[in-house]
Amino acid sequence: MQSSVFDNYLQDPENTLVEKAVDQGGIPVGYTCSMIPEVLLSVPPMFPLRMRAPGVGGTEIADIYLSNLTCSYTRSLLEMAMDFRYDFLAGWVNAASCDHLRRFHDNLQYLITPEFTHILDVPHRGEEQALTWFTQELEYFLQRLRQHFDMQITRQDIEKAISDHNDFLNLLSGISELRKMDHPPLSGTEFSRMMLAAITTPRELVREKIVQFRQNLEQTRGMDNYRARLMIVGGQLDDPEYIRTIESTGALVVADRVCTGSIPGLEQIEQKREPIRAVAEHKLLTPSCPRMMDQFDQRLQKILEKAQKFRVDAIILEYIKFCDIWGVETGALIPALREHGYPVLCLEREYHGTETGQLQTRVQAFLESMDK
Ligand code: SF4
Repeated sequence: MQSSVFDNYLQDPENTLVEKAVDQGGIPVGYTCSMIPEVLLSVPPMFPLRMRAPGVGGTEIADIYLSNLTCSYTRSLLEMAMDFRYDFLAGWVNAASCDHLRRFHDNLQYLITPEFTHILDVPHRGEEQALTWFTQELEYFLQRLRQHFDMQITRQDIEKAISDHNDFLNLLSGISELRKMDHPPLSGTEFSRMMLAAITTPRELVREKIVQFRQNLEQTRGMDNYRARLMIVGGQLDDPEYIRTIESTGALVVADRVCTGSIPGLEQIEQKREPIRAVAEHKLLTPSCPRMMDQFDQRLQKILEKAQKFRVDAIILEYIKFCDIWGVETGALIPALREHGYPVLCLEREYHGTETGQLQTRVQAFLESMDK
């Protein structure tokens, strides 16, 4: 499969491209949530890495510190941190996006004491007062980065980081657009692998692999034997194997709204205003995360637009067990999406270890219920 090149970077958070960037003087900073403005961590020599816990077998050690009512994504991160798998990071940035991430941050500080940690307080609404507060929060965050890493980080640096960020997203968006075709040249699994590689490796080093991937896709015959076009909607989904299992039923995942996917991952940052304020607006006003209390209608609209443009037959909602944010959101999304004519399958799952047989059976039955 074409994207196997990306698989090599998804087995371990400290992959070969990360090692290369560190050898060249780069400073790797881990972050955990889409509400964190990774673009501010892109000012060289820093580079951002979205943190996953690939291959984590269980969470026996983390369970001592985090209740098993805490989502398995955060418990898996803590497990790997306590197994020294993130020791290569020069720092960690978390966000008070949900209580599970807050507890992860507390335990990370208490148990691992990384040299640099920061937790961003993020408002739950997007009006003017909240934007002013969040802009100040980002100013303070930058101040801490400057002090700890002994860097300047000027306004021009941030403008350049935004411009490079948008440029990179153009490359990824061009590949995402291919999924609109009647016969897309890539599967949802391949797209997920590419997106994950793009956010978990140094951008400057993975770019050429993605350009090559795009060129190969132009020579690839499109897929024409799929049973249905699906969209996946949910929170943290950084396991391409989960999508591969869904597609093993003959369905094709052509669109997504997952935290490590195309919404919000491919949304550009506006460049016309004061750059830190622009970053704050981007995070608070780009409707994607259910933690934002007043944006359900916009989030629904965005999902419907995407489903329509990518000519989706049905939607799979997925969320990690005990994720209250996405658990509540799916409760509201199911009737709303059905009202707009989309068959919906809702799946609760654990972060680690796809239950292949059970998932295949659920998706098979869903497809059959649609006569697909
Ligand atoms: S999956 Fe849900 S509970 Fe877990 S960190 Fe993300 S938003 Fe929080």
